[in-house]
Amino acid sequence: MFSERLSRLQGSLVREILAVANQPDMISFAGGLPAPEAMPKLDFNGLPDGLSQYGPSEGEKWLREAVAAEMSKNGVPVTADNVLILTGSQQGLDLAAKLFVDHDTPVLVEAPTFLAAVQCFSLFGARFVEVGLTPNGPDLEELERKLKSEKPRFAYLIPTFQNPSGVCYDEATRQRVADLFDEHNVVLLEDEPYRELVYDQCDRAPICSRLKSAPWVHFGTFSKTAIPGLRVAYLACHPSLMPHFYKLKQAADLHTNRQGQWAMHKLLTSAEYPAHIARLRDFYHQKRDIMAAALDKHFHDLADWTVPPGGLFFWLKLKADIDSYGLLQPALDRKVAFMPGKPFYATDRVSNELRLNFSHASPDKIEEGVKTLAEVIRAHLSA
Ligand code: PMP
Repeated sequence: MFSERLSRLQGSLVREILAVANQPDMISFAGGLPAPEAMPKLDFNGLPDGLSQYGPSEGEKWLREAVAAEMSKNGVPVTADNVLILTGSQQGLDLAAKLFVDHDTPVLVEAPTFLAAVQCFSLFGARFVEVGLTPNGPDLEELERKLKSEKPRFAYLIPTFQNPSGVCYDEATRQRVADLFDEHNVVLLEDEPYRELVYDQCDRAPICSRLKSAPWVHFGTFSKTAIPGLRVAYLACHPSLMPHFYKLKQAADLHTNRQGQWAMHKLLTSAEYPAHIARLRDFYHQKRDIMAAALDKHFHDLADWTVPPGGLFFWLKLKADIDSYGLLQPALDRKVAFMPGKPFYATDRVSNELRLNFSHASPDKIEEGVKTLAEVIRAHLSA
């Protein structure tokens, strides 16, 4: 009765954990949720009546122009013709999978990577080729070797404040990755939902801006800087890919909701927006520092980590060689939620890692939750 594809559909552990983590008495480090108090208010005053009608599949011109201007400022000189509005950047992953992935298509991803990308690409039959991450980006020797031997059709990378690891590729790594992709003519899918959430100085020039010939797609979203529930995001891409994305978008949902695009455009072009982003950075920067201090206090003998220069997550590697999955239920029993490392890998493995989000919980709950989590781990280790 069902498609062959359905046998490859995995449930999302995050969704399941989030359902529990959203209980009011839970301290949640699990999701990637922006703090509710950091979300700007949407203003639908003045919404033109005409937007109630069907609209263009590529998205509204004024929003595409605003996105193109922002991308050009970030070193990717595109025009509105290279920009397509998406219903969440996750829709972009779905469209890209439809464009590039057949059964057994080799797809290169970071290890660890964004678990919804794994869920999406595997649905279409991707065979994953993983490349390990160092604090400066992918292991370049491994990347070159796998580009040669596995010939992936595309590589899906999150170079800036990677989810889940927090890694930000340094400048030399960005350049080397671009050179390798040009040399091997591999399509780059560059996903950057966190680029505005920067707390420490680091290179953020998109890798696609350094490519000379390899085709590329760059995904951006307003979910982390504004309102995730609005589901307004975008892609910009090499001109050769746009006709395909345009038709895939048309076939998927015709177009992204026009009222949401209008409200997002109004927010994006308001005089208030730069101040909102500045406040957001300060707010999350403080929370990151609070979690860093709590980890120093309670986890110094339990795990290793680096302080992420941006984004929303700490990635902890336990010193003990245990499966962090086994800590989830005991932690939930003590009303703390986190994400175990395992689902962030595209291929099956045991992980002793944990992803901790610091944007959602209040400062005092961050300290309390980290302390409780350390107690849970100590109890687990001594059991
Ligand atoms: N890519 C990455 C790496 C993410 O972490 C997320 C959100 N967690 C997304 C894409 C999806 O964002 P959106 O809300 O725009 O679908």
